[in-house]
Amino acid sequence: MKYINNKEKLEQFKKSNNFFAIIDFDRTLTTGESDASLGIIPKFLGGKCLEERIKTYNHYRPLELDYTIEKEEKRKIMKEWATKTFTLLSKYLVSEKIIDDSLQNANLKLRDGVKGFLHNLYEKNIPVVIMSAGVGNLIKRFLEKEGVLYDNILLISNFFEFKENKTYIDTEKLMASSNKDYSKIPKDVRKILDKKDGILLCGDIVEDIRMIDNKQRNKTLAIGFLDHNVENNLEIYNNNFDIVLADNETFDAVKEILSF
Ligand SMILES: [Mg+2]
Repeated sequence: MKYINNKEKLEQFKKSNNFFAIIDFDRTLTTGESDASLGIIPKFLGGKCLEERIKTYNHYRPLELDYTIEKEEKRKIMKEWATKTFTLLSKYLVSEKIIDDSLQNANLKLRDGVKGFLHNLYEKNIPVVIMSAGVGNLIKRFLEKEGVLYDNILLISNFFEFKENKTYIDTEKLMASSNKDYSKIPKDVRKILDKKDGILLCGDIVEDIRMIDNKQRNKTLAIGFLDHNVENNLEIYNNNFDIVLADNETFDAVKEILSF
């Protein structure tokens, strides 16, 4: 189901080729049924790692979806969740090989049309930022395997480093769903992006709109995928996104709407 909430903006957007795209990864580029990148490694490792992941997930996930919590408080809670999750992962994720192995049977699938869509953006030389509060190493490997990590794509995420059999990540600098914002893009890249006339933003939660600055909202066409709790969430999605694609829509739909 497609909801076009801002026809005027869409028409204006279609006239321009001078834009960049900023896209969330989990359940935006991947299907609504896919596992989140953060859950894949614990699922693969099982045992204590999975047990602890489930425990923290069950505690924090309802808080993430609670839109009544005060903004600063929520920011704090989400940072706490990210710190716990990445501390847990660095304990068990002892080599890069685990990432590759965990991808073998992972429940991770690109939405239909993603390959063609990204290829199109590559051919048109349009800069693409993929921004994710998940595990960057895993996302990078996945996109490489799918053959879609083109030169025009910049992946901004949380990356583990492996040195002398030890795993490192700076938990002070983690990107969580609550601080996933435009300022995370390196300054020199932002300088180039700021010159563009338009922005195409794709996400699957309302917070994804914060991937751009508020002052850029007028020149941004925001597309939201809504696959869960559709009835309850449709109104808030329609109020926040210029276009809402509900019930497992694809990137073919995005291409069609944008007349790509
Ligand atoms: Mg997402």
